Order: sequence, then C-alpha cells, then structure tokens
Amino acid sequence: MDYEALFTQQLDALRAEGNYRVFADLERNRGDFPRATWHDEGKSTDVTVWCSNDYLGMGQHPAVIAAMHEAIDRCGAGAGGTRNISGTNHYHVLLEEELADLHGKESALLFTSGYVSNWAALSTLGARLPNAVILSDALNHASMIEGIRHARCAKRIWKHNDPADLDRQLSQCAPDAAKIVAFESVYSMDGDIAPIAEIVEVAERHGAMTYIDEVHAVGMYGPRGGGVAEREGLMDRITLIEGTLGKAFGVVGGYIAGSAALCDFIRSFASGFIFTTSLPPAVAAGALASTRHLKASPFERKRQAANVARLRARLDAAGIPHLHNPSHIVPVMVKDPVKCRMLSDILLRDHGIYVQPINYPTVARGTERLRITPSPLHSDADIDRLVDALGALWRQCALARAVA
Ligand SMILES: *Cc1c(COP(=O)(O)O)cnc(C)c1O
Repeated sequence: MDYEALFTQQLDALRAEGNYRVFADLERNRGDFPRATWHDEGKSTDVTVWCSNDYLGMGQHPAVIAAMHEAIDRCGAGAGGTRNISGTNHYHVLLEEELADLHGKESALLFTSGYVSNWAALSTLGARLPNAVILSDALNHASMIEGIRHARCAKRIWKHNDPADLDRQLSQCAPDAAKIVAFESVYSMDGDIAPIAEIVEVAERHGAMTYIDEVHAVGMYGPRGGGVAEREGLMDRITLIEGTLGKAFGVVGGYIAGSAALCDFIRSFASGFIFTTSLPPAVAAGALASTRHLKASPFERKRQAANVARLRARLDAAGIPHLHNPSHIVPVMVKDPVKCRMLSDILLRDHGIYVQPINYPTVARGTERLRITPSPLHSDADIDRLVDALGALWRQCALARAVA
C-alpha cells in the first residue's frame, strides 16, 4: 500500500477544484488591531485584517491583556489537570459565574472551545435522555452536526429558519420522546438571524427543550452582549445557551449556560468535558475581563454597527454584490472557487488587505465568497481602501455587478 500516494491523490483533487486551503502566516500586532504582519516566502508585509472573528478587537484590549499577564504572574502557565483532578482554578469558577449571569441562568460550564462545547453537550443530551430526538436546523455548524452524530439517537433536519417545518416535524415525534431543538442565532456564513421567538413558541407547544448556539452573537448583541436572545428578551425561555470565548470575547474557550441541574448533568456525564485538561488560568482571566468589559460598555458594539453600515453603503455605491442580512457579517459573493481564491491573493499581495476566501465545504459550491467582518477598530480610510480595491478587481476580473 502506497500511503503517501493515497494522501497526495486526494490533495491533488482538492487543488484541481480550487478548494485547497492555504493559511496566511500572520503575526498579530499587539494593541494595533486590525493590523498584522504577514510572512510570505521570507518577506514580511504589514496588512489590514478584514476577516477576523475577533469581531470587536477584544483580543487586543488593554484590560484583557493586563488580566492575562496578571493571571500568569499569579498562577503560572497551565491549569495542571482536568477540572476534577486539580485543574479547577479560581478563575474558572469566577468566569462560570459571570457567564451564568450574562445569560440570566443558574449555571454555566466551560469547555476548551465552542466546538467542544457543542459536540460534548449535544452528544450527551442525545445519548442519555430517554428516546431522544434531536431536531437540527439544516444549516447548523459542523460542531453541532458532529455532536448529534456522536449521540447516536434519532435526528431530524428541519428547513433552515423555518418554524412551520419544525412544527410539522415535532408533530411526528413520539409523545414520550425527549425532544431537543438545536439551532443558531446568527448564522456565520450568510449572516442571517433565526426567528428565535417563533422557534421557542413551537418548541414550547410540543414540550421540546431548546438549544441555541449564540457563538456569533455573544458580546455583540443585547444591551450587555448576552446575544440575540438577550436583545429579544428570550433568554429565560431557552433551555441551553451555548457560546464561545474565542470570537467577540477575543480569547479562546467555549461554554454552555442553563439550569443548575442541566449544567451539572453535562458536567457529570460529558466525556469531552471530563477527560481533558481545563483552560489555562490566564485564558479564563482574559475571558473574564472581556465579558465584564463588554457587559458594561456599549461603545464597541455601536462602533461596529456603524462600520458595518458604512461598508455596506460603500459596497452598494460601487455595485459590489453582497448578501443583505441583519447582522455584522458582510458576505461579498464571488460564486466561483478559483476566482474567489484569486481575488483574495491579489488583495493580499497588491493591496495589503487580508480577506480569506470561503469555499466548499464551509459553504455550498457555487456560493464562494469573501466574508468581511468590519470591527469597531477599522477606520473610514480602511473601509475606503477596501472598497476601492474590490472595485478595481471587479473591473479587472469581469465579475458580475449588483444591479442597482
Ligand atoms: C466557530 C463556531 C463554533 C466553534 O467555536 P470555537 O470556540 O471556535 O470552537 C461553534 N458554532 C459556530 C456556529 C461557529 O461558527
């Protein structure tokens, strides 16, 4: 068996279809978001990052960095164990209290990432609840899909953001089945937002529990950054809220928030929680500083919204097609994997603008895009430079323009 040939065959196929991924080798510059240094073939160039999920620049915030330094000085580098065996640090406890409060829940539980929190919580619920059925939105994130798969319980996929289809499917579930409705608030690639109130109402009518992934909303929506469910006054009607500390909070880690019994249940039975070293204390301290800051400060959210509106208006004026959605995510549609890659390369090489191309399997084939995420720290001049560069490329590459 020629294993090397087996690896390269599949990689060559990926390259041929334009979906081979090349990572940009970046060095983020502390305190200077969205600037970074790009390393390529022995050269280093200053670039402006336009596709970061550090949506509010909190990964560079002085309060977050100071808290992390202080925690390293107090506690050292690692947590030293799993949560059960010496690895529960006081910062973890404080952060879980803070997150429970953020979502108005009795408890919260930390994981090493948002991916792990979805995977662990959904697989445990589906595997351990009696005759469980997980009802999953058709566009749910890979981490939820993997968790559902691992649960090995019954599953049903309902049409994206369609409470009527969810209603139909819930009607077909056995009355004695434990029913878990799993969905997201802000969908990361199209930037559309779920009709949470209608979904919760349908779920309540059928006695189903609700599981919402607010990864692309925590820190950014609601008066304290509790997410879209906070903004819409719905947090108390959702059974479990899942979030990340790695996107708007700017650090790393994931969590769930819910009732004391629910969190205790996941804490006690989820393999992905139990058998892994807990987050470094400094990470928990940084996330704690970040959530506390964003709870009290609307400044970053307001600036972000203003920059999103400004970018959309400038793209419209330039005739560059982008999805109109009610969130902070601005997908500029290219609809061809090779052109998408090429546009991204030219932006980086010739303009010092970094936007990673988004291709299959992250999005469906034929919907390839540049996913742009304006932050509060991009300047008006940054926005103008981005739109000017895109306009020039649209002319050069003969791409379709949006009909005004
Ligand atoms: C990024 C993402 C996750 C995973 O969160 P991480 O903290 O990055 O592991 C979960 N759900 C959705 C919808 C995501 O986009």
